[in-house]
Amino acid sequence: SVVTRFAPSPTGFLHIGGARTALFNWLFARHHGGKFLLRIEDTDKARSTQAAIDAILDGMRWLGLDWDGDAYFQSRFAERHAAVAHEMLANGHAYRCYMTQEELAAQRAAAQAERRPFKVNSVWRDCAPDAPSPDAPYVVRLKAEHEGETVIEDAVQGRVTVQNAELDDMILLRSDGTPTYMLAVVVDDHDMGVTHVIRGDDHLNNAFRQLGIIRAMGWPEPVYAHVPLIHGQDGAKMSKRHGAIGVDNYRDELGILPEALSNYLLRLGWGHGDDEIIAREDAVKWFDLAHVGRSPSRFDIKKLENLNGHYIREADDARLADIAAPDIAKLVGRPLTEADRDLLTRAMPELKPRAKSLGEIAEGATFLFKTRPLDLDERAAALLEGEAADLLALVHAALSALPEWTGEATEQAVRGVSESAGVKLGQVAQPLRAALTGRATSPGIFDVLVLLGRDESLARIAERANL
Ligand code: GLU
Repeated sequence: SVVTRFAPSPTGFLHIGGARTALFNWLFARHHGGKFLLRIEDTDKARSTQAAIDAILDGMRWLGLDWDGDAYFQSRFAERHAAVAHEMLANGHAYRCYMTQEELAAQRAAAQAERRPFKVNSVWRDCAPDAPSPDAPYVVRLKAEHEGETVIEDAVQGRVTVQNAELDDMILLRSDGTPTYMLAVVVDDHDMGVTHVIRGDDHLNNAFRQLGIIRAMGWPEPVYAHVPLIHGQDGAKMSKRHGAIGVDNYRDELGILPEALSNYLLRLGWGHGDDEIIAREDAVKWFDLAHVGRSPSRFDIKKLENLNGHYIREADDARLADIAAPDIAKLVGRPLTEADRDLLTRAMPELKPRAKSLGEIAEGATFLFKTRPLDLDERAAALLEGEAADLLALVHAALSALPEWTGEATEQAVRGVSESAGVKLGQVAQPLRAALTGRATSPGIFDVLVLLGRDESLARIAERANL
């Protein structure tokens, strides 16, 4: 049965390219009822950090990409990797290479002078003479196939061929006995029972070299699926400027919901007809490698924001209130109480419709929790000039007289004021909005009145009215 894996190197945040790779592996495994494994490739001890590991695990949990079993830490298996290199020495698929740095440098210089790519040519490959001295340092190299060609039937790229003359006798074990990355990946994939290697196409060249090890060991070959990288809007390789930031930034700074990012990443490189909005269950049902695109996809923040708007409108109000509460607390300078949370949840149907990010929701909700006197933005201040204070006095009187405080009742009262004053409804409603929210835009004004309640509404109006 199907076993996939996500194998991040914990040297930085979980960026969106990595998140998409994880998502594709997860979907493929879930579609086939197989296993999705997580391997942390932490062999570069100098650059791997616990913070990066935490950020990756955290990002995957947030995206709902649960992995089967415990995470597998590559660095714990160095002895096993070395043992495989020794097996290859024993069966003649690898050799001890005693070339010195000077000899390597000379070959490199010669290649450069002749303008050909450098490829090591070790005298130790075939003749296997005795070691120059008993304790001479050596590396273990793969005895790579130099004749013929290697073909990969890649599930995304199609048939890809490399001339074996281009493949080098890569190092498997360094002179200090530690395994190289190339060896570790192959051994781990084998030991973990990985059947499908789905990853960025920046690893396609590695696949040919990795196959050399797999074939030398007589192990089953995995299906490869090399997914084109994500590019920026301008077609250039994704950089920070294009949005190649951590998944946590999408959550914390851009106010993106996980289901929106997940849907966006799915569509970025995979298609199901013209469907743009694809629920997780459907993605599991439909995902396949045949419909992964062959050309690089372009990252489009506008599309992500539109999807986010969609998922915000679909999302449960209490959940949105939970997510937005810390941001609102920051904006209003105090923590939200239990009652504030309830109010926020009740306000959510009014706050959601136009929002494209949770930040916009937080921003739009601040009026509910501000203390008097309300700060006014410039446009609100302008709305309160002229005869506004007189009209607000009439509104205050009409609303004060209401026996019950409902949307319909407040609407009737405000309409009554505009009629008796002989002005359009907007001329009353706009200053009223400014008085109640400190802004020129807000949810419907009668919803605002109901959300704020009688006492707070009347107090805010009184502040701006000519009473
Ligand atoms: N650790 C590699 C990376 O983060 C992935 C290796 C693989 O998928 O084979 O790029």
